[in-house]
This record gives sequence, C-alpha cells and structure tokens, in this order.
Amino acid sequence: MSSTSAEFEPIKKDVSESTNESDITEVKQPVETMNSKVSDDINFSEMTIHQASRQGMLHIVKDMIESGFAKATDRDSNNVTPLHFAAISNHVSIAKYLIDNGAEIDAFGGDLIATPLHWASRNGHLPSVTLLINHGANPSLRDSQGFDCLHLAVHSSNPMLVLYFIFLDMAVDTQDSSEHTPLMWAAYQCDPLTVDILVRLGASLSKVNNTQLTPLHFAAMKCDKMCLRKLIEAGANINAKDENGKTPFDIVKEVKATEKWKKAVRETGLKKDGKRNPYLFEKKITFIILYIIPFFLLYIALLTLAHLPWFIGLPLAILEYIICHIIVTKVFIRVQLTVEFMRTPYLSSIFQASAFFVGATWIYKLLFATSFLYSANIIFITTFATSMYSFYVVVLGDPGFIPKSQSREEQKQLVIELANKGMLDARHLCTTCLIKKPLRSKHCKICNRCVARLDHHCPWIYNCIGVKSHRIFMVFLPLMITSILSFEYISYTYFVISAPPYVPIESEPCWLSDTYCGFFQYDGWTAALCVWSALQLPWLLILLCFQIYQISSAKTTNEVMNFHRYSYFTNKSPNVGGNGINDANEIINKTDTTHQQNECESKCKHHHKHNHFSRIRKVFERRDDVVNPFDFGCWNNWVGFWSEGKRGMLQNVDWYEVFDTSFIEPHDDDIKSRAGGYTSLKRDEEVV
Ligand SMILES: [Zn+2]
Ligand SMILES: [Zn+2]
Repeated sequence: MSSTSAEFEPIKKDVSESTNESDITEVKQPVETMNSKVSDDINFSEMTIHQASRQGMLHIVKDMIESGFAKATDRDSNNVTPLHFAAISNHVSIAKYLIDNGAEIDAFGGDLIATPLHWASRNGHLPSVTLLINHGANPSLRDSQGFDCLHLAVHSSNPMLVLYFIFLDMAVDTQDSSEHTPLMWAAYQCDPLTVDILVRLGASLSKVNNTQLTPLHFAAMKCDKMCLRKLIEAGANINAKDENGKTPFDIVKEVKATEKWKKAVRETGLKKDGKRNPYLFEKKITFIILYIIPFFLLYIALLTLAHLPWFIGLPLAILEYIICHIIVTKVFIRVQLTVEFMRTPYLSSIFQASAFFVGATWIYKLLFATSFLYSANIIFITTFATSMYSFYVVVLGDPGFIPKSQSREEQKQLVIELANKGMLDARHLCTTCLIKKPLRSKHCKICNRCVARLDHHCPWIYNCIGVKSHRIFMVFLPLMITSILSFEYISYTYFVISAPPYVPIESEPCWLSDTYCGFFQYDGWTAALCVWSALQLPWLLILLCFQIYQISSAKTTNEVMNFHRYSYFTNKSPNVGGNGINDANEIINKTDTTHQQNECESKCKHHHKHNHFSRIRKVFERRDDVVNPFDFGCWNNWVGFWSEGKRGMLQNVDWYEVFDTSFIEPHDDDIKSRAGGYTSLKRDEEVV
C-alpha cells in the first residue's frame, strides 16, 4: 500500500503531551527561578505549577498562586501553560481554578503550537473540553498540523466528543492541511461508531483530499469490515478514483484483503445495478413470502411424518426444514446478517403456523370426537383464543418506543445540556436515535428504536417486549402453556377412544410402546402435531420461570444479561452529573466498550466467544457489590409490575421520563405497609 498510505502520515504527538513523568520534569523549570518569594511554610522547590496541574494537586496550585509563587499564565520552556496540563490530565477543578485566576483560554504552546482545548480534545477528555468551551475556548483554531478540535476528537476515538463538537456547529467536513476530513480519519482509524455518527450528521462521502482519495479509500486502506459496510450502506461511491486512477477495491487488492471487502459489500446488500436491497425482492413482497413459507413448510413436514414410516419421515421432515431455512437465509435474505434475518417475520410465522394447525386440527378432528370433555375443551378454546389475542396485541402493539422526532435544534440542545451536566455518555444518550435515554431503556438493533424499560426483543413475537407490552406478554406465556397442555390432553383422550389396537407391520418397525405406535398408525397427522406442540413446552416453561424470577427480583432480561454494564446495579453513588471524575469514568468505560466492539465485530471470533461465556458466567456469579435500586421485595415488585406504575413502590414512575436512580425517594412507612409508597419521582432537571 506503499504509495497511498505513505502520503497519509501518522498523527504526531506533542512531546509536551507525553505521559512520562520524567519528560514533564525535563520540560519545566524549577519554580524558584520564576519567583523569588518563597513562603515560609510551603516548600515548592521540588515542583512546578505545571507539574502540580498535571498531577491534580489543586491545593498546591492554589498555594502557589495565592502565595504569589507562580501565576496561572506562567509558561514553561516549551511555552506550555499550566492550563494545558490540567486539560490534558482532565483535572477539571484545577482547570477551572486556573481560568478563574487569569489563565489564557486559547494559549498556544508546545511543539505542535496547540491550545489547552486541543490537548483535551486529542485525549478525549469531554469534561475538560466542556469547561474550556463554556469559558470561551475556540474549537476551530488549528494546531501546527492543521487539525482543529473536531479532527482531534476523531483521533481520540471518543464518539461523544465528536458529537459534541458537531453540535457546537463546527463544519463536519472541516479539512486539515492535507485536506483530510474527520470522516477520512475515522475510516482510517477503523472507528465504525464515529464513522456512523459523522455520516448520519451529514459528513460528505464524496469529499476528496489533496490526492483525490475519498473516505471509502481510507476505509479500504485498513479494510475494516464495519467501516466499509457503514460507508457503502450510506451510499459511498465504490468506483471513485484517486489521482492515480485507483478505486477503493484497487487499494483493497494491494493490501490483500479482497475477501473482507467482498464480505462487507455482501453485507450491505449492494446489487450489480448499484442499488441496495438486503432482500431478494422488494422488502414488502419478500416479507409476505417469508410469512407464508412456514405454513407450507409445517403442512408438508406434518404430512411427511403422517404418511411415511417414522425412520424415513422424521429425517425427511428435518431435511425439509433445513432446506427451507437455507433457502430463506441464503436466497430470500441476500444480506447474511442475523439482524436482517431477525427483521423478517419468518420465525414468528413458524409459531403462527403451528398455532393455526393446532386450532384447525382441534376443530376438524378433536372437538367432535371428544365433545364429552367439556372442561378440557372449554379450557383449551379459552386459553388458546386469549393467548392468541394477547400474542397479536404484543406483535402489533407499541412495546414502549421512545419518540425520536426531534429537530436538529432540539438534538443540539440535548447534547450540549448533557455535556454540561457531565452526562454525555452511552448510558444517557442513544447515538442512533439522538435522544436522552431514560433509565432502563435500551436501543434495539432489530427494531432500530429505543424502547422504554426494555426486557428483550422476542423473534417469535416479532417485536420488543418493553414497558407497554411486558404485562400482556406475561398473560400470553401461561395461557399458551395451558393451551398446549390441554391440547395434549384432548389429543391423548381422542387417541385412546378412537385408535384401534396397533397392528405391527414388519417393514415398518416402531420402537415406541404399542399404544403410541397405534396412535401414529391411526392418525399420524394429529400424533405428529402433538409431538411438535409438546416440543414447544420446555422453552416456554423455561422462559416463564425466568420471567417470574426476574419480575420477582425487579430486573429485566436485558439487565440480568448485562448488569455489569449498568452502574445503578453497583454500590457506586449515582452519577448525577457535573462531576469530572464520574465523567472520566464514563468515558473510560465507553471507550473500553467501543474498543471491544471494534475487536469483536471486525475480526476476533475467539474473543467474541470468550466474551459470550464470560457474560454468561457473570450472570450466575454471586456479586456482593450488586444492589438493585428497583427491588422492594417480591410482593412489592409484582404489585408494581401489574399496576402499571399506579400502585407499588415505584408509584407514578414514568419510564419514559426518569433518567437517574437518585430520584427514587423511599418512604419508610410505606415500605412497612407494603402497599404503594414511593411517591412520584422528581425529574433530573429539578436536582441537577
Ligand atoms: Zn435508540
Ligand atoms: Zn426490538
């Protein structure tokens, strides 16, 4: 890759920004030489104000300035101010103190002739950046490399910082001295999250640098599948040529990564005519076909089992299912991504087809033959009808989608407000919907929406289970289980009274007892349907047990699987914003997550597997430091669950509007009385 990558020089770091403490001492002169007035009780001889600022020693910085020993405007041998060091170390309180004592906000210094804001941005320190911005720092100034703060934020791989600068109305396609845009840098750094944010906020896909390279060329240099996919999905021109006539694919061939490129292109659903479609036909037509297929599949599989000897029928029925699944996932869905498969109604239709044949078989075969079973038939039809009704209510209803119809101006206000409160992080902002995420909500990748108090996305239901649909889902589950059990009982009675004694056939050995062999011999269709229905019982029962456990302990499925990601499940004090330390932790956590995602998504299957197992292990690990702020005991949790927030301990909690656990205010008396008592929760604006 030689020629192209050689032109794209790596980012230089300012020597003064080094994290090595010995470097720091070298670049600063002793304080005594700056000021001869040494206070009697403070010995500053070993430290400079720059070092104290760097190391977060506010009291020393204060003493130095108050005693006249140093000034906020002092420069070291590299022309760097103490504010530079406070900013690069994210010591917000020191930076604020220095600014209040006359530090120059936009002082240029260091090898790269950069401002404190440049230093903070390059290191992704959002708290320092917001402080400097709020005191008038100019993010559009450039260092000696021609980078402004948006470029440096991209270099820091902190997507929240990138978002913040864009909403400060910085030009999203700002170009450095070699005319590289932030999107080119993000693509070159294999940072799909930042690429995604820049593209959605209007970054140009066709902008070129001084050698006519587009952002897609830069993604091709590193051939990160996720970045390539996001750029192509957004409409990047895969035939764009640089000044040497090279397309992105030519670059991919040079770096010998054609397979990765092909996979990325396949995953975008890009067709030969240049249009994108993840499905074989138009989306609507494909979905209709995928909805109908399971009805035919199940019909044919049941007929196969009914009319062929079991040792031929069973493998053949399984083969029919496998072939059908391959056709659906490889032919009808062109993009081989699980998320695209889950967006189709195929799995839900398998469930619906099963229910259809159970209902039809009951009407045409079982009802009249077992009409004397009043109770069983009434239980069956009642539970079957109500469970199917509740099923369609959940399928077609709103699980609790959080509205995202916000204007750019509203989004800007939100991002800046969150940044100022120290809450601009993945927990409080959905970077896809650009909305403030309420407590316990989550973005569903399949529905592509944020859902209030999300439990999980259910592929069989073909919708999310959230705050609005969780109760009806809990009506559906036990009803469906009862319905299957009563169907099995009715069918068994039907066979017992109708099936003649089993007549063995030598060419068709039956390894079951004579009774069951007789059932299959008499009515293979109903017998096969009974087996198929019974197979649904274990997973429905397990699901019900998990749900009962989770509601009893006031956790959602998402929280049980990912509790280590949510700080409100630990004994840490809640983050109510404005605290630089909390912010820094959030950023560190977020950055770690981003890096993990990059690794997982781009290459490391083993790592992913390992993560998966360690996640499961964590779920079952006993953690003494885990506390659940929503858990008020089993009884209260169930009261709260069924009363839709009208009663119980979390009375009047609106899961669309609550953003922090600090607003839960217990009333001791009410806890004792067990009947509703946590009064309405204050909104964060009232506290912060
Ligand atoms: Zn979202
Ligand atoms: Zn969903």
